Amino acid sequence: NKEEQLAVIKGQIKSYPDFPKKGVLFRDVFSVLQNPPIFQLLTDVLIETAKAIQPSVEVIAAVDSRGFLFGPLISLALKIPFVPIRKKGKLPGEVMSHSYTKEYGEDTLQVQVGSISKNSRVLVVDDLIATGGSLKGAVELIKKIGAKPVACLIVIELEDLKGREGVTCDVISLLKY
Ligand code: AMP
Repeated sequence: NKEEQLAVIKGQIKSYPDFPKKGVLFRDVFSVLQNPPIFQLLTDVLIETAKAIQPSVEVIAAVDSRGFLFGPLISLALKIPFVPIRKKGKLPGEVMSHSYTKEYGEDTLQVQVGSISKNSRVLVVDDLIATGGSLKGAVELIKKIGAKPVACLIVIELEDLKGREGVTCDVISLLKY
């Protein structure tokens, strides 16, 4: 069953204390990719979860950079487009930007104009939600471009940081710490 599958995936995630700085317990989602059967399991659970979202999603957007590991796999399975949301200066052509404040300073996310059609229902994918700052920024950017964020699908949620409270759409996470 799903609970057992999630426990197997969680067992594969390695944790690193004090990385990248003291006090942070780093949850390394890449460790799942080193074990193909468990990577397959995680992919299957993500796809199944994305398919169950109502109303159905029309576009998958993922956040730079570890969201890119999972977003395209989900978009292929659902046969819908994948769109990257990237840090400032990485995407060519006309872009729409959204800036948000982080713990230290500001960050800007961008999306290519025309990559998401107006009013389309978007699922935002990322590896992990900590403070929720980057996910909140991505959701605001999708609204700014005139599309509709339906939900965020996240592999790992750090619940103590209450990041989901700042995100203005449904947040679905698989593994909670
Ligand atoms: P946040 O905006 O605080 O929700 O976090 C932004 C991104 O930083 C997440 O999508 C992760 O890729 C990364 N991140 C933050 N905290 C951790 C952590 N404890 N372990 C691994 N990655 C993290």
